[in-house]
Amino acid sequence: MTPDRRPAAGHDWPVAVRELAAELPESRVVGGAPLGTLSTYRVGGAAGLLVEVGSLADRRRLAQVAARERWKVLVVGLGSNLLVADAGFDGVALRLGAAFAVTRIDSPVVTAGGATPLPVVARQCAAAGLGGFGWAVGVPGSIGGAVRMNAGGHGSDMSEVLHSASIVDLATAREWRAGREDLALGYRQSALTSSHVVAEVELRLRPSRRDREEDLMREVVAWRRRHQPGGANTGSVFMNPPGDSAGRLVDAAGCKGLRIGSASVSALHANFIQADVGGSADDVMSLMVEVARRVEAHSGVRLHPETHFVGFEKPFGSQS
Ligand SMILES: Cc1cc2nc3c(=O)[nH]c(=O)nc-3n(C[C@H](O)[C@H](O)[C@H](O)COP(=O)(O)OP(=O)(O)OC[C@H]3O[C@@H](n4cnc5c(N)ncnc54)[C@H](O)[C@@H]3O)c2cc1C
Repeated sequence: MTPDRRPAAGHDWPVAVRELAAELPESRVVGGAPLGTLSTYRVGGAAGLLVEVGSLADRRRLAQVAARERWKVLVVGLGSNLLVADAGFDGVALRLGAAFAVTRIDSPVVTAGGATPLPVVARQCAAAGLGGFGWAVGVPGSIGGAVRMNAGGHGSDMSEVLHSASIVDLATAREWRAGREDLALGYRQSALTSSHVVAEVELRLRPSRRDREEDLMREVVAWRRRHQPGGANTGSVFMNPPGDSAGRLVDAAGCKGLRIGSASVSALHANFIQADVGGSADDVMSLMVEVARRVEAHSGVRLHPETHFVGFEKPFGSQS
């Protein structure tokens, strides 16, 4: 937690909910809203306050209030890379609503609101005869979350197609358009921090043939169905170390199928952890820590998580 940001503890959330709801007429403001169920793990606790932002005007007002009140904030996309602690998140979670899930295509420029699901953008681009984004059909996140993560797959990532993004900083209420080079996109990382909201994204793609792109997307989907499990997970748990694959290392350390309480390492893909229905985030975290410990003991390689953690008191690796 940033030390000078206000947590929920001691904060009068019912009053904040009432005041914020009055200031943000086009948004949904909920106190004590379940947060874990907004993640694909579907485990974990509640947020002090959740705002589903309904309009550009409300987004501006919310940024001003958050900056003025110095709230501790969390931006939630489609929750496909989040593990929320069972204790929940002591702060304000923000989710961009349907008004931010709109795409405009003016070939070869594609503009998408930050909440637009990647598979939707990928299919729209293919239908418009644009190539270079078919890989994204298999990544179940939002395009805003994909910029923060520099999501990628099948030999490409956001850095290959991103031209610029509209950013709002909830710590200062500043808004600006960042070029790709300003975002320092690297392997599953960017220069964006937890107070930054990616409100809109501009991609520049290349002309292609619709049927070619649709064939490619069918292959991507079929490959994923063969190699990746369904159920409650966040895709790859650990980043691949240079020159190796995290899944291979986890498998070699004998962790496939390993279980702690309600969490287990997938038998299909060793870099996926599955949470049982009604399971616990603490179990998922304990299993991640145990897998990393066994891999380091077996191969000497320290794995680093790709998953983002929310509300845990101790950072990954410092759990007892
Ligand atoms: C089955 C499965 C397969 C996956 N395969 C891949 C893959 O092939 N490649 C890959 O890269 N990832 C993969 N992922 C992980 C995940 O889909 C990506 O990391 C995705 O980019 C996360 O987007 P999200 O909207 O779900 O973000 P969230 O999980 O909601 O959040 C992730 C991070 O981004 C931040 N964030 C979210 N939205 C915004 C926004 N609008 N502005 C600023 N910050 C934001 C959050 O605060 C958090 O820090 C997979 C996940 C699953 C469940």
